[in-house]
Amino acid sequence: MERAIAIVLAAGLGERLHADLPKALVPFDGTTIVARAVERALACSSVSAAVVVAPAGWEDAVRTLVEPLGVRSVVTGGATRQASVAAALTTIAADATRVVCHDAARPLSTAALFDRVVEALEGWDGVVPVLAMVDTVKRVRDGAILGTEPREALAIAQTPQAFVASALRAAHERAARDGFEATDDALMLERAGFRVRAIQGERTNMKITAPEDVRLAEALARPTVPRS
Ligand code: C5P
Repeated sequence: MERAIAIVLAAGLGERLHADLPKALVPFDGTTIVARAVERALACSSVSAAVVVAPAGWEDAVRTLVEPLGVRSVVTGGATRQASVAAALTTIAADATRVVCHDAARPLSTAALFDRVVEALEGWDGVVPVLAMVDTVKRVRDGAILGTEPREALAIAQTPQAFVASALRAAHERAARDGFEATDDALMLERAGFRVRAIQGERTNMKITAPEDVRLAEALARPTVPRS
């Protein structure tokens, strides 16, 4: 199987985290959020190398954290997640056939999940790990409930997301041309008419967003201590 290049997105400022560092550099389980995410990506057999996208001005700090893990390429991010992916794509060799985009904000993704998304790419343009909705979903405006969505039809998208490199590049170019801003890469492929597949995500693959998420994710990262 053709191995993939991972793009690890760590260029967000993480303002909702209220830390004095960009989110990816925040200490996490004895390391940092970005270093743990990179470790997980490089621990799987289906990823050959990783490009890490750092916030402008923090490139050296990120390089210091990820070079010891084997990362050779740290690039400067853009103002949006989409711009950060586009910046990484310019540094990836034209003959690379598979790319995995991963949010550093999800340091708990397992190496097995990276392998599963890349393997599931056979015959598809993109693969997204998803979780079925377990909660009832309401449409809310100004504190008033306007309606309820049928949750059977909905799923929550995670990263890592795997793509055929040419499809990812084409979808990005089209979104940029149209001035379309997407919150994940799969959305750009969907609107460009590519075939994107959903596979089972991981419940523990949480995204660190709010301050309490760091402690929650650290608790999930630790091996369970047997009760005496
Ligand atoms: O902001 P959000 O939490 O949705 O960001 C998802 C991921 O995209 C994070 O890992 C963040 O570091 C990354 N990102 C980026 N460049 C930006 C904004 C977000 O690499 N300009």
